[in-house]
Amino acid sequence: MGETAENFVLVINSGSSSIKYQLLDPESSVVAASGIVERIGEDDSVIQHRADGETTERREPIADHTAGLRLVFEMFAATGHDLRREGVRAVGHRVVHGGEVFYRPTLIDDEVAAAISDLSALAPLHNPANLAGIESARALLPDVPQVAVFDTAFFHGLPAAAKTYAIDAKVAAAHGIRKYGFHGTSHEYVSGRVAELLERDPGELNQIVFHLGNGASASAIRGGRPVDTSMGLTPLEGLVMGTRPGDLDPGIVAHLARSAHLDLDQIDTLLNRDSGIKGLSGVNDFRELRRLIESGDEAARLAYDVYVHRLRRYLGAYLIELGGVDAITFTAGVGENSPQVRADALAGLARFGIEVDPAANTAENRAARRISPPDAPVAVLVVPTNEELAIARAARRVVDRLD
Ligand code: ADP
Repeated sequence: MGETAENFVLVINSGSSSIKYQLLDPESSVVAASGIVERIGEDDSVIQHRADGETTERREPIADHTAGLRLVFEMFAATGHDLRREGVRAVGHRVVHGGEVFYRPTLIDDEVAAAISDLSALAPLHNPANLAGIESARALLPDVPQVAVFDTAFFHGLPAAAKTYAIDAKVAAAHGIRKYGFHGTSHEYVSGRVAELLERDPGELNQIVFHLGNGASASAIRGGRPVDTSMGLTPLEGLVMGTRPGDLDPGIVAHLARSAHLDLDQIDTLLNRDSGIKGLSGVNDFRELRRLIESGDEAARLAYDVYVHRLRRYLGAYLIELGGVDAITFTAGVGENSPQVRADALAGLARFGIEVDPAANTAENRAARRISPPDAPVAVLVVPTNEELAIARAARRVVDRLD
């Protein structure tokens, strides 16, 4: 510790039944405490709070987000940070959908909160949950500035040809239908780190970033600005994910409605929760998938092959869109931890200057690093993402302007 809470930013990522949080100093990147509240609204809610290298756990029914956050604050106080007394510099909230309205970190007031709520039509699974976290934090820390950092913001300026869906333009305009893109905080942070690591001006680099977690997305970035990304109006489009299919023939939706008599909510559930790696193999965790493949499970093998095939399809598309690439980077749970996925995604591409050094790729190493041979024309990297730090820095920049 040794720092006072007023330098810290509390970052909150609020889901429908969970709150992930981190208290950190955006300048030094020091994390004072972090944790997660899970199963909010159920009888067996649980909080795991980590501070000073120790995890404390609390299990009791937590009715709603405000009750959860109140308990989190009690746990903070017990570990030396009484946030309600000492205050914090800012609270930074991850908000999934900023629509056309929000494309930079935004100080939250009643009007902004209402606008985030209005965007729920575009992100019914996410924005209401994000808002629950915002309202709870505003109620518990009324004097602390609260800043919304949007997952879509980085992609706001996508070129028209990349963001436009080829449907009736009037219908699209009336309903806000365009490619918004998600995981923007991660793509922006990781591509910035790549420029630092390569000691190059970001303005000079053509980059492809693969954010491969439970959700997965790819982006093509020219000179620090995204020119394409795989997620769309919603986080369903693009790569194969843990439980989402990524790209599909949209005709499948009408076919399911007619032939399988599924209603829209059932189709939404099928596509958001029961598809992707899980739909094909029965499991959504990549470590379990690997175990199944090693035991000879054919369905798991196919799921993996479909996953890699889609990665390569996007790689090829972005390589051409960019007209050549300087750096290809893997991040998030799968991207950072699966040498196999990285090797398979880039196999056989030496003629494009793309190579992975097997020893560098499989070395036990958690740091940001290059995994291509030193003389290869294209740098291939693994860069751990840090969305919390990026959100904390963004929130800090907003409140610094208030002074
Ligand atoms: P989220 O999108 O929820 O933030 P993460 O970025 O934490 O997800 O990524 C979760 C995914 O990362 C899971 O599919 C998990 O299996 C995978 N993963 C985590 N650790 C490993 C590992 N050591 N090897 C392979 N996959 C891993």
